Amino acid sequence: MLTKQIHFASRPSGLPTLENFAFTESEAPALQDGEVLLRTLYISVDPYLRGRMREGKSYITAFEIGQVIESAVVGEVLESLAPNFNAGDVVVAQLGWRTYNIAKAGQLMRIVPGVSPSVALGVLGVPGLTAYFGLLDIGQPKVGETVVVSGAAGAVGMTVCQIAKFKGCHVIGIAGSDEKNKYLHDELGVEKTINYKTTSNMCDALKEASPNGIDIYFDNVGGVVSDAVLPLINERARIVLCGQISIYNSEKPEVGVKPQPFLLIRSASMKGFIITQYMPRFAEGISQLAEWFKSGQLKHAETIIEGFENTPDAFIGLFRGENLGKQVVKVI
Ligand code: NDP
Repeated sequence: MLTKQIHFASRPSGLPTLENFAFTESEAPALQDGEVLLRTLYISVDPYLRGRMREGKSYITAFEIGQVIESAVVGEVLESLAPNFNAGDVVVAQLGWRTYNIAKAGQLMRIVPGVSPSVALGVLGVPGLTAYFGLLDIGQPKVGETVVVSGAAGAVGMTVCQIAKFKGCHVIGIAGSDEKNKYLHDELGVEKTINYKTTSNMCDALKEASPNGIDIYFDNVGGVVSDAVLPLINERARIVLCGQISIYNSEKPEVGVKPQPFLLIRSASMKGFIITQYMPRFAEGISQLAEWFKSGQLKHAETIIEGFENTPDAFIGLFRGENLGKQVVKVI
């Protein structure tokens, strides 16, 4: 079986370019006992992959030059030498950017039945779980509180907005286009939105949108957007540090507003988390998200780019804000 694959060709400086990726084609190895052959259906491209392109220690190992890039992939089992999987099963796993993957049974998770497979990369996958545990476990939302979400129209952000609404909160979404903000408002019921790219003064815009102050800030982006939130946090506010996409391509450390004085005088907290820490509770999270999703309460939006060869483009597009909801690549 011939498989195409995408390798990490060179470390980017600033925004990644197509030169940082290389395509090859080779024969897939023979299937061994306990393994399955998967045809890739969808590939997830995610902001954190930019961190793996940097040399040095982080919470996850850096990509080696030449290695096949990996992320969450949805695949259909074509052949199985594993007792619990059969041809036709659709599964999700952390796998290479390949058109066909050989995987061990222990790596695979079945997708939620009766749901479109790509949803397993979005609201019923890692982004959904990140929103769920980040908001509920760290944010601890209470009825009537004001929740501000940056990166609000992305995969994690739009799930946070919705769960915050379920919990009776006032939600303010910050995103980078009027079209995205219209979606948040019209489709997801987000009361107030701010376009951080066209707003002349983020602080004033946030002040106007949150007359009672901010109780929870779910931070997906960092940088100047997050700097504008700090002066507006309430007593015992919670800042959920989920992502910092605005600085993922920066070569120098960011300089900005120091949070300590605000946290101190408001007795507020700021807590970072990495979703894998919640792995023992993933089943609980998926079960609740699936219940909300199947009942129609929780919505999923995705931007699909077709064609395996467009995977690097789809990844780079995340940093240009080209996606509404989860960015996925439909392979075949
Ligand atoms: P998204 O679907 O939100 O896609 C990325 C979005 O980020 C873009 O669409 C763009 O939207 C926005 N963006 C890009 N560049 C900038 C910038 N310079 N300033 C502000 N916004 C920018 O991605 P995810 O939902 O997958 O991830 C959201 C965040 O959550 C990321 O920071 C990611 O690293 C983090 N994350 C953290 C996890 C954890 O375990 N802590 C797990 C998963 C994700 P716009 O048009 O609004 O600019």
